[in-house]
Amino acid sequence: MSGAPTLVIPEVEVSVTAACSLACAQCGFFVPDQPRPFDGPAQDGLIQALTVLEQAGVRITSLALLGGEATLAPAALLACAQVARASPAVERVEVVTNGLTPKGLPAALLPLIDRLSLSDYTADDELASAWARFLERVAPEVEFRRRRHGQWDPVDTLVDLGVEGGQRAYDACWYRRHCVTLERGRLFVCSRLPKRRHDEAGLPLRAGLTADRISAHLQAPAAPTACRFCSQMAGLPGVVPGRQPDDRLPKLRARALTWLAQTR
Ligand code: SF4
Ligand code: SF4
Repeated sequence: MSGAPTLVIPEVEVSVTAACSLACAQCGFFVPDQPRPFDGPAQDGLIQALTVLEQAGVRITSLALLGGEATLAPAALLACAQVARASPAVERVEVVTNGLTPKGLPAALLPLIDRLSLSDYTADDELASAWARFLERVAPEVEFRRRRHGQWDPVDTLVDLGVEGGQRAYDACWYRRHCVTLERGRLFVCSRLPKRRHDEAGLPLRAGLTADRISAHLQAPAAPTACRFCSQMAGLPGVVPGRQPDDRLPKLRARALTWLAQTR
């Protein structure tokens, strides 16, 4: 990209896999029903999308690679990080992980990323401390962040807010400011739309697209039809984050702690 960007998008999310090691109730990414994020290899779709955005004069301040759980797809994660790092459209490359399968983190990945964010669903500070110590040993230049979740918005409650209610939800939507998503060759204003297969609500990223057209899509005054049925912005009571159907979380946590302590 030459000269100043004509459009800055602060955050863009890219799923490298639909699979996850956890099975959180009310998963905002609809695991295990999340569709495949790319039609072909993830890195091919990402190259194509970032090339279109770069040629349109777009700059992405932070591109987050996530899942599902990104470390379950190490080859795709590494390939996408290489693509993002090489793209003039991307400033910061971030990986978001639940931290429970660290052995899926390719060694070659760490020099490519600026930040690793731990979405921590464990009950204490041990996993976060173990990750902090691990990164300090092997990649001190990578910024470490831990995200602790408060209450989640319910994702799978059936609602019909009506046309006006859907518009109000869209106008006030938190996700539109934080979860612009690139998926299956399209740009979406939030992650819910692609994860619920509302591909018709995404902007196809094709050669010749302009920054004005992309901006118009992200700032469109009219809500997508799907907002009418969005429980995440329906003002419903929050739900407990990260609740599992079994004891996988403590088991994975124990294995992760061992791996993080032993790996140099
Ligand atoms: S860690 Fe939980 S919330 Fe995150 S993608 Fe996996 S199942 Fe969903
Ligand atoms: S579908 Fe829900 S999360 Fe997405 S823009 Fe509409 S109100 Fe926001």
